[in-house]
Amino acid sequence: CPSCTTGAPSYCHQFMHLAYDGVRDDGTGPITTTDGESLTGLFFGQSSFATHSLAFERNVVKVPDDVPAELLAPLGCGIQTGAGAVMRSLNCRPGSAILIAGAGSVGLAAVMGAVVQGCATIIAAEPHRTRRDLALELGATHVIDPAAGPLTEQVRAVIPAGVNYAIDTSGVPAVIESLIGAMTFHGKIGLIGVPADPESSVPLNIINSLAMGLTITGIIEGDSVPDQFIPELVELYKAGRFPLDKLVTTFPFTKINDAIDAQHRGEVLKPVLVHD
Ligand SMILES: [Zn+2]
Repeated sequence: CPSCTTGAPSYCHQFMHLAYDGVRDDGTGPITTTDGESLTGLFFGQSSFATHSLAFERNVVKVPDDVPAELLAPLGCGIQTGAGAVMRSLNCRPGSAILIAGAGSVGLAAVMGAVVQGCATIIAAEPHRTRRDLALELGATHVIDPAAGPLTEQVRAVIPAGVNYAIDTSGVPAVIESLIGAMTFHGKIGLIGVPADPESSVPLNIINSLAMGLTITGIIEGDSVPDQFIPELVELYKAGRFPLDKLVTTFPFTKINDAIDAQHRGEVLKPVLVHD
């Protein structure tokens, strides 16, 4: 399609069909039961929960043997989304200031990406203290507890002129409004978080937006071309500049329900299931 042939595969015109419908392009299912019944699969082109998987070449990225597969597992979605938003979509300048709303695995990947880009001020806004602490460990220069006061005011207390870039991983309209209020002139805002309500919208002051030269952009998969970006992230990890091992917690496959519970309780950022 026009997106795939111009280096923007995450905006494939067939994205919803190929990633979510659970069938091949021709509508047939990839899995058949022993009774001959067709089942859906192919979530994001490959599915999971198996020791082996058939995939289209287009969905395969070669990675080196000397890095544990369980660390590389999350690179294909959340991690490349957060890092790519900063390193690709916004392409943040060295010395700039960035605000990241939400320090889950996507937001923390954005923090690591901001460090790689050389951002001078990296502010993470996150309600959970343990995640704020991890953001600081990963290179955030400031953290904000949204419960401590209006987000915009807290950001301006750190950097009165406002930030050059902001990333929203929350999908919460009130948070996105706060980001708009925290920008400096010519600021760029990237929207990553999926709202709970698909009808969600945010009011936009037109004069303010044009006078300040604001850009607001939606971002899928960090605008990355996986064949290029994932190997780049692996090299950064090997060089000690992208410590994604701090986000990953492994569980044996048989403990899949424990992994889900731990994620829901906020005890782990990125649970990864490992087969024997
Ligand atoms: Zn396409």
